[in-house]
Amino acid sequence: MAKVVSMVYSFSQIRQYLRCPRSYRYRYLDGWGEKDTRAGMVFGRCFEDALAAYFREEDCGAALFRSWEPYRDAAFEYKRGETWDRLLHQGIRLLERFAQDDRVRVPNRGKDLQIKMFRALSGGSEFVAYLDAIGEVDGTPCLIDWKTTTSRYVEDPAGLLSLDPQLICYSWISGISEVALVVFVRKHVVEVQYLRATISEEQRQEFDRLVEATTNQIEAGYFHSHSGIRFPQNGCLSCPHLGLCLNDEQLVAANLIRKAGASDLDWLDELVD
Ligand code: SF4
Repeated sequence: MAKVVSMVYSFSQIRQYLRCPRSYRYRYLDGWGEKDTRAGMVFGRCFEDALAAYFREEDCGAALFRSWEPYRDAAFEYKRGETWDRLLHQGIRLLERFAQDDRVRVPNRGKDLQIKMFRALSGGSEFVAYLDAIGEVDGTPCLIDWKTTTSRYVEDPAGLLSLDPQLICYSWISGISEVALVVFVRKHVVEVQYLRATISEEQRQEFDRLVEATTNQIEAGYFHSHSGIRFPQNGCLSCPHLGLCLNDEQLVAANLIRKAGASDLDWLDELVD
């Protein structure tokens, strides 16, 4: 009797497998997770807590402080010129700007924020995604993804956002064509970008085939390496698993932490996208 494979996949997994199957194996099967040392990434999660408070009509500045405060003395890697305080102040200014703009509505905040969605895949596996919100941007009903970043998202040429794989994934799992990215840009003069796109049925079908092909390869155990050597942007240099590929214990200790029971599915608790 054939073995029944039952897995739960996410967009992060598909993206990581497509980037480098070996890295996928390290992260999702062997349990080598990246340490939470990037201040910007942790701050982004705190900022999303504050946005949720904003839509609950609570004091979102206080919510940001509450979420970010425990990391005041954390040994984070800050980009040049960044500090714990500076990030907090940028976050407060972004929340003020967002409130002043008043371009986003989430009428049904009880059920339309941080929405967990499932989709059954062939072979008994399933795909899970967390949508940040379903609401309206400038009066257009759409699904919404928040991003915090230090540089503006590129808007040209027109339609570029419709190729964003994460938005295509969310459209695929929700069946919603209209999508929006609200980008909170942490720079000297903060900015909020409101970017919209339409995802076609053809794109959703193509993503469906991509998921099927990718999960088939994972379940067949193909974990070859896609090293980025010699390309102008060497993907290995930004890969947290470089230390494992190079057998460099110092690099492993600096970047990774190995979870107990890694072959279980407990990493699902850590879906970040
Ligand atoms: S270091 Fe390079 S080859 Fe090794 S897992 Fe990362 S991307 Fe893949």
